[in-house]
Amino acid sequence: MKKKETPSRAAPNKGSLYLVATPIGNLEEMSPRAIRILNEVSCIACEDTRTSGVLLKYFGIATPTRSYHNFNEEDSSRVLIEMLEEGKDIALISDAGYPLMSDPGYTLVQKAIGNGITIIPVSGAHAAVNALIASGLPTEHYLFYGFLPSKRGEAAKELQKLAAFPYTLVFYEAPHRIVSTLKLMNEILGDRRAVVARELTKLHEEYIRSTLSELAERENYRGEMVVVVEGKKEEDEEVPAEVLLQEMEEAAASGMSTKEAAAAVAGRYNCSKNKLYNEYLKNKQ
Ligand code: SAM
Repeated sequence: MKKKETPSRAAPNKGSLYLVATPIGNLEEMSPRAIRILNEVSCIACEDTRTSGVLLKYFGIATPTRSYHNFNEEDSSRVLIEMLEEGKDIALISDAGYPLMSDPGYTLVQKAIGNGITIIPVSGAHAAVNALIASGLPTEHYLFYGFLPSKRGEAAKELQKLAAFPYTLVFYEAPHRIVSTLKLMNEILGDRRAVVARELTKLHEEYIRSTLSELAERENYRGEMVVVVEGKKEEDEEVPAEVLLQEMEEAAASGMSTKEAAAAVAGRYNCSKNKLYNEYLKNKQ
């Protein structure tokens, strides 16, 4: 009979849902508690049963697995909730790091809470926090964004929302999109200090500490990466109108429509897009 970790706050007769972090590269970061819990639960819900199968085999964990993807969250949540209601403990893991952090699990947690099931997170590696604490950028307050939308227009809109945020920003990005994303960030957020943190906890771990414009000039980014960007600085606030109009000219000359140029410059300096657009047109007459 498997030994069970029973938290004093657990709902009687119901199982508990463990949200277990797994390594983001270096397997030595798998905690003894995570291994014990994965051995004790009745079932492990995995983002990808084949990927997790390799990890579980490495640690000699023979607990049955079920798949739990973004595209079947509703269906697999229902089955898992039934098991939890029957008193079975379940662990949710993703391919790497914390489940729910740019990974599936949100629907299951919502449903579990709705059903009075105890949720127990089990600590471990998280790429965003590793990158943040080693970046050299302020860590006291930060915003974890995760992946920007893949469509440029949508990504631009999201960055405009973040442009005025005074705290450090943390993004995930794929190697094939990193250069275009850094360029867009430079356009919308302005040329801030930024860090690309690659291959964390792995053999080729690297921190490229620079500015957005310089990082965007580089090529051949490889591996998994996190982008950490400095928040908006207070001294940026009072920008003279001539500077804004000059930047509008430059943006328009680079091929942007007047509307796009106004959005990009307004995002960069946290001012009104419409006011800038109207000022620019007035100035042109
Ligand atoms: N759940 C994970 C976590 O808690 O960090 C994140 C999963 S998300 C699908 C995958 C993205 O996380 C990668 O594209 C990359 O941006 C980042 N990432 C994961 N492992 C990483 C690593 N070892 N080094 C740098 N970034 C990593």
